[in-house]
Amino acid sequence: MEALATFKKELSSPKNIFITTHVKPDADALGSSLGLANYLIKKGHKVTVVTPTDYPYFLTWMKGNDEVLDFSKPSEKAQAQSRLEEADMIFCLDFSVLNRVNELGELIRKSKAFVVNIDHHQDPEDFAHFRYWSTKAAATCELVYELIVELGDESLIDKDIAECLYAGIMTDTGGFRHPNTTKNVHLVVAELLDKGADSSQIANLIYDSNSVNRLKFIGFAITRRLVVREDLHTAYFVISKKDLKKYQSQTGDTEGLVNYALSLDGIKLAALFSEREDGIKISFRSSSDVAVNKFAASHFNGGGHKNAAGGKSAQTLKETVERFESLVEQCQVELFHSDPVVAD
Ligand code: 5GP
Ligand code: MN
Repeated sequence: MEALATFKKELSSPKNIFITTHVKPDADALGSSLGLANYLIKKGHKVTVVTPTDYPYFLTWMKGNDEVLDFSKPSEKAQAQSRLEEADMIFCLDFSVLNRVNELGELIRKSKAFVVNIDHHQDPEDFAHFRYWSTKAAATCELVYELIVELGDESLIDKDIAECLYAGIMTDTGGFRHPNTTKNVHLVVAELLDKGADSSQIANLIYDSNSVNRLKFIGFAITRRLVVREDLHTAYFVISKKDLKKYQSQTGDTEGLVNYALSLDGIKLAALFSEREDGIKISFRSSSDVAVNKFAASHFNGGGHKNAAGGKSAQTLKETVERFESLVEQCQVELFHSDPVVAD
């Protein structure tokens, strides 16, 4: 692993830079990528942002959105691939394991470029030359802000960059409510506001841009697709392909749904199972004393943070949910009573 000094040296002359982030980017993934891209462009680099898949419509306001290439779109893939081949540097943002970027993962592994990983997820894979990583950071956007400051370029953070970064911090802290909302988060956000970020407008763009279909879908899911197992402190949604089709679901429409399950009194573990083209996608959320990332990694080929993680399953929806329920039953002690047992 190279040091910060080597990284700085790499960046000291104009470079071809390729930035990517995880599948189905959220506000932290896209905000950190575009915030960093806008900064690097100001420094004179040639920058391309490529996402492995599409992302929610409520993120498309960020500066640079129109130039983002989607690797899953046949019409954009060839261009994205040639930008990757030309790249001197590759930045991997908001993910720590290369299987989070689909096919791009192996291309990055084989690339001769200088690879940088900026992230806040646990258990990073060793694929980067330089890693700017901390699980103490609430968001990758917080780390991008700190990196720009570390490079001595705080004055280059303008309103557009500040708004990209603010968006990721706002959503990864659940609107400044999760336990990761540290003093540092507030200090960084104060600086971003100072740079011109319009906090209420960003909240409005992200949280108050529902389509009628989405709102109806949320109502349907809460009334018809929520399973509550009070005995297991667990509640979860099961959403089939047919349900998604019926409500003409768009990317991002299930975002946040899992939190309704966690909001129930007495519920400590919440999940959302959604049946997608490529298998079952699972979101896990938990109260502060329950760790879901290890559960996701051990049983659902996933990972994430202590209280917000995800995974996948190649079984049917029904089989996946049945397996989940029996795992929660089996793992109750590990999940809900993890305090050290003191011997008499
Ligand atoms: P979400 O439920 O919002 O998709 O994801 C919650 C958190 O878990 C995010 O930090 C995300 O990066 C992580 N995550 C979601 N799905 C996966 C997955 O399949 N693998 C891993 N390693 N992390 C995931
Ligand atoms: Mn993040």
